[in-house]
Amino acid sequence: MKKAYFFDMDGVIYDSMPNHAAAWEMIMQRHGLNFTARDCYLNEGRTGYDVIYEALRSKQNREVSREEIEAIYKEKTESFVALGGAKPMRGIKEVLCKLKNLGVQIWIVTGSGQKTLFDRLQTDFPDIFSREKMITAFDVEHGKPHPEPYLKAWKKSGFEKEECVVVENAPLGVKSGKAAGLEVIAVNTGVLTFDDLKNAGADIVMSDMYELSDYITKEYVKE
Ligand code: MG
Repeated sequence: MKKAYFFDMDGVIYDSMPNHAAAWEMIMQRHGLNFTARDCYLNEGRTGYDVIYEALRSKQNREVSREEIEAIYKEKTESFVALGGAKPMRGIKEVLCKLKNLGVQIWIVTGSGQKTLFDRLQTDFPDIFSREKMITAFDVEHGKPHPEPYLKAWKKSGFEKEECVVVENAPLGVKSGKAAGLEVIAVNTGVLTFDDLKNAGADIVMSDMYELSDYITKEYVKE
């Protein structure tokens, strides 16, 4: 049995990716860029700035100014906020409660930098998360796919690498976890194919949180 689970947040704890994808698609289209939901999922984990820079450069083949990128990102953020808050992912509460009852440490490792994140987690998942077991945008120099976020969580946990496991939904997040030398379970909660996640290096690919919940039960029974 693993002693610590490191959970990504967007697309794992919260079903926030459909709103991100809708906001990105709409704003990119407004600026003459073809950017699909799939593009959104493939880029998940990159900063908004980098996503816009790449899209403008690769699809319009021109240099772009920082002001232009920041203006587009502001539009994206406004449109995302207007879509309303995301709900917890289907089945995630069962997974978290099961781990808690088994005495497994539960961490959040996210590129998100929302200041109100912890309060929101406390409201949606009472007594599951603690501030000390969170690595956010404020704690790292390099975001995913760099290994730093997961390496930090692992070091702070004090466990061996084999005792920890990462749960991710995005190829760049999977790469980050694998680069940190950890086992990675990918849960395909969005529009990607299983191969997108497998090719990024995921050790196991699952279709939803119910499958993860069953997997945890089986792992526990084995011991
Ligand atoms: Mg994610």
